[in-house]
Amino acid sequence: MHNTNKPLMLVLSSPSGAGKTTLTKKIQESDSSFKVSVSHTTRKIRPNEVDGIDYNFVSIEEFKKLIQENAFYEHAKIFDNYYGTSKSSINSIIKKGHNVLFDIDWQGAQQLTRHKELNLLKIFILPPNVEELKKRLISRNQDDKGAIEKRLAAYTADVMHSKDYDHVIVNDKIEICFNKIKELISTHLKKKN
Ligand code: 5GP
Repeated sequence: MHNTNKPLMLVLSSPSGAGKTTLTKKIQESDSSFKVSVSHTTRKIRPNEVDGIDYNFVSIEEFKKLIQENAFYEHAKIFDNYYGTSKSSINSIIKKGHNVLFDIDWQGAQQLTRHKELNLLKIFILPPNVEELKKRLISRNQDDKGAIEKRLAAYTADVMHSKDYDHVIVNDKIEICFNKIKELISTHLKKKN
């Protein structure tokens, strides 16, 4: 998994609540060559989150300034908040020879695709069904009812964009899904080498 010329840019996207956070953690734990890209966001920090680790939490003014300074590889507006991947955070990961793991939406994946020089692998994770997604969002208990409804409405739009990804995986069982991702990574790296 480690001896590729270019660092691997692994993009994991999914509708909210499809288990992507757990998968991201598992990938990092199983392969220390992957470092997660810490995005910037204008969203409010959640109780379980740490500034600088989960996200770099910034004001809208700061975010807009960074856009003007051309500091982002990609950025998008999602649920009334801005999210973006800064060039400097990616460069510091690459400089150390690590692979990069992106937890970003389809808009971000689309923008990264335009950078032809990147060694991109884009995987879309689907929850087993909408009911399951609803259950997971409610049991996570992080968002109020309005926010949950908005996320479910965004679900359809998200799924439509899954066709732009290299692979789509249904997250029925986390362990099976995780193994599939590992397989896709090693197949991708073999092709490149
Ligand atoms: P959350 O607010 O639940 O942490 O994330 C909401 C959505 O924003 C998720 O789909 C996540 O993948 C996406 N996201 C997080 N960071 C970025 C980013 O830097 N760029 C883009 N395009 N999407 C992001």
